[in-house]
Amino acid sequence: AQGGVDVAGATPMMAQYLEIKSRYPDALLFYRMGDFYELFFEDAVQAAAALDIALTRRGKHLGRDIEMCGVPHHSAESYLQTLIRKGFRVAVCEQLEDPAEAKKRGHKAVVKRDVVRLVTPGTLTEDSLLDARSHNYLAAWAEIRGEGAVAWLDVSTGDFHVAACPRPALGPMLARLAPSELLASEAAAGDEALGSLAREAGAVLTPLPRSSFDSAGAEARLKALFGVEALDAYGAFARPQLAAMGAVVAYVELTQRGKLPMIRPPAVEGPGGAMRLDAATRRNLELTRTLSGRREGSLLAAIDRTVTGAGARLLETRLAAPSTDRDEIAARHDAVDWFLDRRDLAGAAREALRKTPEIERALGRLALERGGPRDLAAIRDALARAQDLAAALSGAEAPARIARALEALCGHDALVGLLDAALIAEPPLMARDGGFIAPGFDPELDEARSLRDEGRGVIARLQGSYVERTGINALKIKHNNVLGYFVETPATHASRMMSEPLSQTFIHRQTLANAVRFTTVELSELETRIHNAGARALEIEQRRFQELRAAVLERAPAIAAAARALAEIDLSAALAELAAQEDWTRPQILPGREFEIEDGRHPVVEQALRRAGESFVPNDCDLSAEGDDARPVWLLTGPNMAGKSTFLRQNALIAVLAQMGAFVPAARARIGVVDQLFSRVGAADDLARGRSTFMVEMVETAAILNQAGPRALVILDEIGRGTSTYDGLSIAWATLEHLHDVNRCRTLFATHYHELTALAARLPGLRNASVAVREWEGEVIFLHEVRPGAADRSYGVQVARLAGLPEAVIARAREVLEALERGDRREGGERVRALADDLPLFSAARPAPAPAPARAPSQVERRLRELSPDDMTPRQALELLYELRDLL
Ligand code: ADP
Repeated sequence: AQGGVDVAGATPMMAQYLEIKSRYPDALLFYRMGDFYELFFEDAVQAAAALDIALTRRGKHLGRDIEMCGVPHHSAESYLQTLIRKGFRVAVCEQLEDPAEAKKRGHKAVVKRDVVRLVTPGTLTEDSLLDARSHNYLAAWAEIRGEGAVAWLDVSTGDFHVAACPRPALGPMLARLAPSELLASEAAAGDEALGSLAREAGAVLTPLPRSSFDSAGAEARLKALFGVEALDAYGAFARPQLAAMGAVVAYVELTQRGKLPMIRPPAVEGPGGAMRLDAATRRNLELTRTLSGRREGSLLAAIDRTVTGAGARLLETRLAAPSTDRDEIAARHDAVDWFLDRRDLAGAAREALRKTPEIERALGRLALERGGPRDLAAIRDALARAQDLAAALSGAEAPARIARALEALCGHDALVGLLDAALIAEPPLMARDGGFIAPGFDPELDEARSLRDEGRGVIARLQGSYVERTGINALKIKHNNVLGYFVETPATHASRMMSEPLSQTFIHRQTLANAVRFTTVELSELETRIHNAGARALEIEQRRFQELRAAVLERAPAIAAAARALAEIDLSAALAELAAQEDWTRPQILPGREFEIEDGRHPVVEQALRRAGESFVPNDCDLSAEGDDARPVWLLTGPNMAGKSTFLRQNALIAVLAQMGAFVPAARARIGVVDQLFSRVGAADDLARGRSTFMVEMVETAAILNQAGPRALVILDEIGRGTSTYDGLSIAWATLEHLHDVNRCRTLFATHYHELTALAARLPGLRNASVAVREWEGEVIFLHEVRPGAADRSYGVQVARLAGLPEAVIARAREVLEALERGDRREGGERVRALADDLPLFSAARPAPAPAPARAPSQVERRLRELSPDDMTPRQALELLYELRDLL
């Protein structure tokens, strides 16, 4: 056995395979053999199934067939993509020497191989494996003596962050970051709760040995990485923060096999820097994905007008973590405002940005020695455009944030000049085959190249002179990989060529059926020269590539700053474009607890309606919690389909948009900073999740009641619906009271329990509001207008009719409803009994009468139904009697 692996009886190659595989038990091993990556045993079985490729067999090991499958190395990336997407990790094992080298050691010697990279979801750098418009975070969670922290890194761009994160805040944090991979110590990763948080955030959970999370080791590792004596310059880090950052760096070292990507010094996120939104809220508001998991239909898709990948990623980051810092928010709004006042400049900037290549990821690849000439060219072109952009925007007085961005775009002349002179316009992806250094840049290279190219001309001339000398017109100089250059004549001339005097010059190499091949001293000398010149040209190009790469990396921080500035400009101009197109306004962000929205709209619903040729009805909302007659809790009633959910969500989205730095879909908005946002829908709408939905609903409601502080904004839609009526009503009732009395936060509460509207009389901070509908000839017309006061009834039966329920069922439902409403004033328990008394039991099971067309209620009936006798004075009642008589 070798290295603890049972290799007895294995072929030497299989022994090598098993030894390497034993070091990567959790990954599929891509074992390079010539032009293929081969997979064996269980790896092959899994990969063949995941990739839908043929599974074959190759020899035996310990008496068992060896399963095998393979993928061609030149198209390996697309297979990798599929495997990573399906949650696999892949260890890429390359040949580390030329097979010819191995042969020299004996004909049984195995080519040296080792793993050069471990490909995992959180450590990707290739454009083909990444989504250009999304970041790709690798995150780590560490906990030391009850104190927690999360660190996150985008390996493709070097963006590195850390934040304190107590365990209860971990769920919202992961929901916000949506990392593709989460590192945790083995002990922590064993915890089922952490596993489900990771799953919920869409991350693969990777357990690491405890040593990776050692905070002392982490400190040393970070100091070495950034080349500093102390980390103080970057901030004061608590031990769990160090541990989390250290784990990220250690894991990157492990997966990249020692080649470190560019990692920016960590940015520490202070507590309370971002609005807290938990996973359920994000899902429910469909911020970046719809409930069905797609991007279209989400808020992000509706507001994204960016034209670069980096701009789109910045938008996603901001949307995932709206700020709570008024200065920061104001600075972002200033930038949008500035572009909004200069639409032509914004347009020009967007036009230029559209043509600007991606540089953050190009820079990341170069740092990892995975980049090529095309990445250099991307940086050249982007920096050149950046300078033009800065020049175009620099005339007008710009707000601080834009001014800073413009500064970062300048000062790259020397590097742009160098890359411009050095590279051809459109270089190849890989440095390997050369051909990317521009002529005129390196005299030595030019000379080698012309020698190589001229050599080919010299050969043509040589062939001419040989034809003349031998008198054989069919004589040709040819080239193949075995013989190199050679002279070939038809076989009929063989004897003449092989006898004096020609045989003195032409040395016989090979006889074929109808041709003979020769070489000459002159020809082999020429061949060596051509070959050497080519090799030298290639060598010079490689050297130049490394120099250019070094020149770029030397300026990496400045280039990264320019990349960020481009993203910032893209995003600001895009948000201005959005505000102009959609007629949005700048919100006022206040230090208090105001929440006043005039003519607010739901951005996604509005756009959908517009596509259908319909228009959205704007609505006001005032949840301000300041002032004497403040009524921060709104209880919203109204029939199904009236627009309650839409109204609730539009107000939550306006808060998110305002604080992420965008303008908002409203005529006016005054918002006191919201630090937590909760949004929940009653269980009945949440069937997709499959757990005991009522339990989920209650757990989530409990989270709100326990966590929502004075600056929170809470949106509750139909809470309590997942259980029987009385249970549901009681729960909704108690929840509403608790929010009003204890949490005292700005709250929108929609319900179909009309009984709750009576609470307004008792709770001073509660206001009834309803979505107006009009009934006309027995049908409801939805006005989508939110008005003060409770809705008088639910119109559920009318909605059922709209939905196409058979008339007989509708008629019966009316009967039941009327009976129920008659019982309304009696106490709960009695009401059920009343129902049983008033309505013949099982009446719905009687053979249905011929479906009588439902009789439209008469005017008198309709007028009567609208009445609320309790609210009438005797005089009004008398007037009504007259009115009714006139209607007959
Ligand atoms: P509810 O929650 O009351 O059942 P929804 O909010 O789901 O109702 O709205 C139902 C439909 O009504 C929406 O899909 C939308 O098409 C339309 N709607 C809602 N609000 C408005 C509005 N303010 N203006 C125009 N149409 C609206």
